[in-house]
Amino acid sequence: MSGKNTKSLATHFAQAGGAIDPTTGAVVPPIHNATTFVRDENYEPFSPDHIYSRDQNDLYRLAESLLCEAEHAQAGLLLPSGMAAVATLVRTVPNRGRIVLQSGIYWAATKFVREFCARRQVELVEVDCADQAAFREVLEGQKADLVWIETPSNPYLKTVDVAASAKLAHAAGAVLAVDSTAATPILQQPLDLGADIVMHSATKGINGHSDVLAGFVACRDASHPIWELLKTDRAGAGAVIGSFEAWLLVRGMRTLPLRVERMSENALAVAEAMHAHSGIDSVLYPGLPSDPGHVLAKEQMSGGFGSLLSIRVKGGREAALKAVGKMQVFKRATSLGGVESLVEHRHTIENTVPDDLLRLSVGIESADDLIGDLVQALG
Ligand code: PLP
Repeated sequence: MSGKNTKSLATHFAQAGGAIDPTTGAVVPPIHNATTFVRDENYEPFSPDHIYSRDQNDLYRLAESLLCEAEHAQAGLLLPSGMAAVATLVRTVPNRGRIVLQSGIYWAATKFVREFCARRQVELVEVDCADQAAFREVLEGQKADLVWIETPSNPYLKTVDVAASAKLAHAAGAVLAVDSTAATPILQQPLDLGADIVMHSATKGINGHSDVLAGFVACRDASHPIWELLKTDRAGAGAVIGSFEAWLLVRGMRTLPLRVERMSENALAVAEAMHAHSGIDSVLYPGLPSDPGHVLAKEQMSGGFGSLLSIRVKGGREAALKAVGKMQVFKRATSLGGVESLVEHRHTIENTVPDDLLRLSVGIESADDLIGDLVQALG
């Protein structure tokens, strides 16, 4: 897997990194469902890269190399879900270690980290990493094993300074990991900003069609000891995706740059319309100049600000739920990053989120239809 981005990402993804089947010339890679591969009469493997498919699968390798190239990573792993990537990463922390975790991020990741730390006597510090002073205070002059940030964060869309976080983490002897799911590898490359690890729920924008669960974790430097730990963990714990799912993921990625461009444009148009709407208290979206993270997001993201935003509806829970009930174009469902727009009342499943907040995942539909739907729903 090379770390150099030689072609534009549009060409790279559209042509699946030049993946032409060498035996047939097919422009689409084949799916091999075999779990095992023969050896010759001298007991040499027929192909050294094909022994047993738990960890050796051409489609994993293809997906990994596509994403590594986009992230400028030297090595990466495909996993069966974003949470599998979270778990693989957290399991690298030694017993009685220390984790500094951004507060207010994807709730299931927080839950997993909390439970892991309690079981392994790992000290856990949760802090708002968008607040530089607070972040510095928990790291300066102290040791840590892992610093974990999520930018833009879900569902509050906070922007965290990756370069500054890397400096703080490294001074504390820690690895900096960035959950870059909401940005996708198209809009942000955390490894270029000094992060050691980037991870994604590939279920979201990377696949983009709400039909595959997948995760991805990648390292800037394959000689960093954490790479061996991650690789061994996937092979040993057997956290692998099926061949068909990996194939679907590669197919989805062919349009990744195009989708992200359109979704980001739509999300900005929706955010601007909601910002100007009298029924909305506030819009959380780093693309808006009024957003506290806007200047930073402009520096560390390029090509757009992503498809995720949250709106806080005037009138509280009742008004928010009433609006959701009236939506017709936005579908009432969890998740994000798909071509179809979704709306979620997060408080219903995560009660620490304000009950007037609606999270919007903006798809590739017409922006006018999306804005029209929201305007009619808000009355
Ligand atoms: N990270 C973020 C930011 C997410 O939003 C999610 C899921 O919503 C995950 C990780 C977990 O991903 P998955 O659902 O693929 O396990």
